[in-house]
Amino acid sequence: FSISTYLREHIRTVPDWPAPGVQFRDITPLLQDPEVFRTLIKAFVDRYQSPERRPDVVAGLDARGFIIGAVVAYELKVGFVPVRKKGKLPFTTVQETYELEYGSATVELHTDAVKPGDRVLLIDDLIATGGTMMAGKRLLEKLGATVLEGAAIVDLPELGGSQRLKESGLALHTLVDFE
Ligand code: IMP
Repeated sequence: FSISTYLREHIRTVPDWPAPGVQFRDITPLLQDPEVFRTLIKAFVDRYQSPERRPDVVAGLDARGFIIGAVVAYELKVGFVPVRKKGKLPFTTVQETYELEYGSATVELHTDAVKPGDRVLLIDDLIATGGTMMAGKRLLEKLGATVLEGAAIVDLPELGGSQRLKESGLALHTLVDFE
């Protein structure tokens, strides 16, 4: 049994979305099937339950990182904090802006989301250029936390994001590669 093959069979590829030439990897079928959803969550929980990897808090990246991250945090019996797109969080925030192919994006985190020294697991659904996860890591580090590992369901290695993240010193764990 290969979890990678099993999960890959339940990821849908949508051509030309959101723009011509883009092959969007859609993880909603993974969540929709109760057995697949549980297998996915168990894969993360088993890894991060081990004493050396157990985080103090799980941070999820807007928006699909919330779905996975919140369930993993619940199972690990630790708290969950959202890294949100600009303008959504009501309390004081730290911000980080990063470049996209066209333009830029800003993400925010509440200033009291983590404490200095907290060990954080950072979760998203997919790593493409790595920009989103890198911005999340910087936000957590601005508040004095340490990112133990970045985790995602899917990596698109051809875009070089996972390589760049690893070169920046972030340990990464992904379950499925798509070329
Ligand atoms: P990056 O910042 O370039 O690594 O892009 C990753 C972010 O964009 C993640 O938050 C993903 O949810 C989203 N994303 C980019 N491409 C895809 C895709 O093909 N499927 C699902 N999400 C994607």
